Amino acid sequence: MDTLESTKRCPQCGLTKNRSDFNHHRYHADGVKSECRNCQSLRAARYNEKRRNAGMTWGEFLPNRARHQKRYKAGHPLNKRLDLARWRARKRGATVLTLTVEEWRKRLREYKESCAFCGEHTYLTMEHVVAIADGGEHTYENVVPCCFACNLKRNGARTKKT
Ligand SMILES: [Zn+2]
Ligand SMILES: [Zn+2]
Repeated sequence: MDTLESTKRCPQCGLTKNRSDFNHHRYHADGVKSECRNCQSLRAARYNEKRRNAGMTWGEFLPNRARHQKRYKAGHPLNKRLDLARWRARKRGATVLTLTVEEWRKRLREYKESCAFCGEHTYLTMEHVVAIADGGEHTYENVVPCCFACNLKRNGARTKKT
């Protein structure tokens, strides 16, 4: 009997093919890759051509790619810090986490890259106006730049209050 699962549409070439035209993939829900075999080998060929154009062996090409990614991350420290801030906010129980890098940059510009509380320019951290612990959200509306000293003061005041 022909079941629905015996064919599958490849999103790359848009053709509906037999499941046997897809490579197996252990971690995919349906047990095969999303791309058909043909598209996959085309992708591999493209990648191989890129490597050959660069005049590299696979051994040279792959570590090189890792190094590029590393250098990219090093050049974007804000992304990394924001990832960390989001992770921390979620861990503290924030449920709305929509703040983007662009929004945080905008916030920094609005405050002329200085502390929202005292105007200090150094050691800026991200402060939630309504603390996450008090039900605040990790959003553009609820974050301001704050210097390290003010951050400590605010944190101290909050723990004393409770
Ligand atoms: Zn395909
Ligand atoms: Zn301050």
